[in-house]
This record gives sequence, structure tokens and C-alpha cells, in this order.
Amino acid sequence: MADYGNLARVLQEQIEHWEGKSSSDSTGFVVQVGDSVATVYGFDRAVYGELVDFASGATGIVLNLEEEGVGCVLLSGESLVKEGEEVRGTGKVVSVPGSAALLGRVVNPLGEPVDGRGPIAADEYLPVESPAAPVIDRGTVDEPLQTGALSVDAMIPIGRGQRELIIGDRQTGKTSLAIDTIINQKGKDVYCVYCAIGQKSSSVAAIISNLEKFGAMDYSFVVLASASDSAALQYLAPYAAVAMAEHFMKAGKDVLVVYDDLSKHAVAYRTISLLLRRPPGREAFPGDVFYLHSRLLERSAKLSDSRGGGSITALPIVETQAGDISSYIPTNVISITDGQIFLDSELFNSGFRPAVDVGLSVSRVGGAAQSRAIRRISGRLRLDLSQYREMAAFAQFGSDLDKATQDKLAQGVRLMEVLKQPQYKPYAMEEQTVILFAAVNGYLMDVAVEAVGDFARGLLNYTGVHNRELLDDIARTGVVTPEQEGELRKALDSYKQVKR
Ligand code: ATP
Ligand code: MG
Repeated sequence: MADYGNLARVLQEQIEHWEGKSSSDSTGFVVQVGDSVATVYGFDRAVYGELVDFASGATGIVLNLEEEGVGCVLLSGESLVKEGEEVRGTGKVVSVPGSAALLGRVVNPLGEPVDGRGPIAADEYLPVESPAAPVIDRGTVDEPLQTGALSVDAMIPIGRGQRELIIGDRQTGKTSLAIDTIINQKGKDVYCVYCAIGQKSSSVAAIISNLEKFGAMDYSFVVLASASDSAALQYLAPYAAVAMAEHFMKAGKDVLVVYDDLSKHAVAYRTISLLLRRPPGREAFPGDVFYLHSRLLERSAKLSDSRGGGSITALPIVETQAGDISSYIPTNVISITDGQIFLDSELFNSGFRPAVDVGLSVSRVGGAAQSRAIRRISGRLRLDLSQYREMAAFAQFGSDLDKATQDKLAQGVRLMEVLKQPQYKPYAMEEQTVILFAAVNGYLMDVAVEAVGDFARGLLNYTGVHNRELLDDIARTGVVTPEQEGELRKALDSYKQVKR
């Protein structure tokens, strides 16, 4: 551990303090520094995760406790640290501010503002590592978290307090789906946290300006550890984000946290672990990489009413290589979350966006939170789509198809078409109901495939003007009564008349 240059001093210190301890247990000195890791000798009272100050002004956290020394990962001021300088334990773990003043701001994983808009007043400080809410404090997930994406809300519904993974290759619209979900929370009483890990600062800047453009920064804030930040900061980022989110959850609020992305987070942790000389395991990740993400995602919860009823919904993002969802980090995170939305690059490139692969996507708890109106329709939708996929595979062989098969195929293409949705255009729940109602009840069958998108948009405009009351009723109650169904049919018929 100690290198030879410092051996004399280590020995001297050991001799001088042979019986007792060194002058203070909470100070030590640097024996070795390099690659963001400082080995400190003499700091006997070090606590795992403790924040330490270096005499030169640098800061670090204790991550290795060994017999002859303590391994500290540097958070800032790496270039200042010299061998032999004094290190002082602060007796505190890393804490971040919790406050409504965070809204609209961009902070680093230490909670310090990086948007140049002045300090943030904290109501309280929250430790970045803290235990997840115990089972008895939790309630059931029963309120929807609307993403605004028709295919997701209809078939892979998410509830407040759920953890739903967004997974897919690079450039398949993962970030876009998460950002659209944040934009869709406007006026829905959900605070949002976007945690960017290991991305280019320029892409994050573009995301922030879009959030501002759509008014989403009023109820959101960003935790940023970019690709140029140290691995230690990238490692801390998601824990800092969830700690700040907990401030809101404890006050009974609903929070949505997006971790973009956990693949880069795992890589940052691997870097730190290798530098700390922990033994590498599968794909060179350390053995506790599962715990890295499980303890993070367990902190999302829906609290029971007696605990204020707040919630943290997590949308972690994981990047796959060539669609391989069975590699190490993806399988880990899939098993930790309550379901996944798989975005397929072939679908994306063929223009089906958001590129949700319905067959490989699932939500294990959100169904209970879905509105009854959409739940009734979506069963049919899933069935029609899976029949379509099966038949489309056969139809490629070009054999003569009977009428029933042809109809199923025609219906299927139109369903796929109606599920396409541009960025930044989330649908409200009642709009989704109208579109799905038209789609599963065959109102698209005589519409040309290329015209389906226009038909749907026109339908929303038309009903928005002529059936406002009906839409408001559906939005309020979340159900479609038989009478309302009749009204919907009438509206669709008259819209078709107008179209003709
Ligand atoms: P990366 O792996 O680089 O993080 P990603 O999977 O997060 O990529 P995005 O950056 O969200 O993907 O999207 C990739 C591109 O696809 C962007 O240019 C975005 O504008 C476009 N895109 C995403 N969703 C849609 C959509 N629904 N309709 C049209 N274009 C879209
Ligand atoms: Mg992305």
C-alpha cells in the first residue's frame, strides 16, 4: 500500500505512537495520489462514505477501508493534492440540499449550482446514501403517471411510485421518451428530476433548453455529471438526484426521476472500483454492481397515506449493444425494475416512433393505476397487434389470403400507424381514449394507411371543438359509460361526414 518514498515516515509515525494512537484519529496524510484516488495513512476513524477535506482545498470521499490505509476518491481539486499533505475527516457523509428553490435549476451531484444563477437556499440537507422506505411505510401504486405517449400509456401503463426501465440501442429515442414524459407532467402536480450521467454537456444543454421552451423547468430541475466530470461525480449523481427527490416525496408530493443513463453510471463505478484495486468480475465490473443499482432504485416508492402519500417514480435508462438485452447490466436492471419499455432500432429506423417493441415491453404494476377507459380498450389493442405481427410474418410468403386475414392485416397496419407520434406532442388521457376508441372499433379501416396520422390529428381537433364536454367528462371520471360510447360513435360518424 504505502510506497517506499513514504515508508520512512509511516514507520516513524508508527514508532512515535507505538502505545497510543496518532495525535488525532480523524486526520491522516496522503501517502499516494493518482488517477483520482488518494491513499491516506493514519486516518483511523474514517467512516465509509465520509467526506474528507485535504489541506490543499481538495475534497474526496472514503470508499476503501483497509488495514494500512484509507482509499479516498477525489471529488474536486485533484491537481492540487500532494503527497504528505494533511487530510481531515469531516464526520459527515456527502449531503445535498433539499428545497423548492431547486426547481428550474441545474446542479452538480454535490448540490452546487452550475447554471451561474446564484446560490440555492436549502431547507434541509439530505445524505446521498440513505435507506429506502421500509415496506410498512409503503402504499400501493394506484395513480397513473401519464407519459403522453399513446403506445406506452395504452399498453405499458406506468403508475406513480413505479420503476420502469427504458432500454434500447443508441439513438432509438430513449431520452426523447423520458423528456416527453417530463413535458407531459405540466399541470399534473408532479415534480421532475432529470439526472444526466456521463453525457456530453452540449446534449444536456439542448435538453435543458427544450425543457425551458415547453415550460417544464417550472416544476423540474437537472442534476448534471457530464462526460468531462470525474468518475466519482458521475457515480454520485443518481444518489444525489434521488436524495433531492426524497425531500419532495417526504412532503407528500409526487416526483418523477429520470436517470440518463445507468449504463454510463455502471462504467463510472467500474472505473472507480478498478482504481481502488477491487477485484474485477464479469465484464470487469465489480461484484457489487447489482447492489449499486438495486439500492438506488429501491428508493423509488409510493408512500402510504399515513406517511403523506408522496411518491418517487423512476425512469432509469439503459443502453444496449445491438439489441442485446441479456447482457450483464441490462439483465440486472431489468430484474430490479417493475418492467421495461424496449425501444427497437429497426422499428425506429423504419419510422415507427416512439419505437416501442410491444412484444418485449411490459409493466408489472401500472395496470392497477391505468384509467378504466383506456384499460378496456387496450386489451383489444394488444391482441390485434400481436395477431397482426404473427400474420404479417406469414403474409410475406405471398400465398392467397382469405378475407378475414386480409382484414386483420389491414387493421394491424393502421393500428401501427396510429401509434406513431412525433416528439414534444404528448396526448392527454381523453385524447388517447378517443383515438384508441376509433382505432379498435374499425373506424380507420376505410382510411388510406398514409392518411391515418392526419385522420387522428383531425379527429382530435374536431372532437376538441365539438365534443369538449364529453372529453372533459372522460378526463374527470376516467371511464367511458355506454351512453358516452354512443356519443363517441356519433362524433366519429359526423367527423367522417365532414372529412368526405
Ligand atoms: P443516445 O443513445 O444517443 O442517448 P437516445 O436513444 O437517447 O440516443 P434520442 O436522443 O432521444 O435517442 O433520439 C435520437 C433522435 O431521434 C433525436 O434526433 C430525436 O430528435 C429523434 N426522435 C426521437 N423520438 C422521436 C419521435 N417520436 N419522432 C421523431 N423523431 C424522434
Ligand atoms: Mg439519450
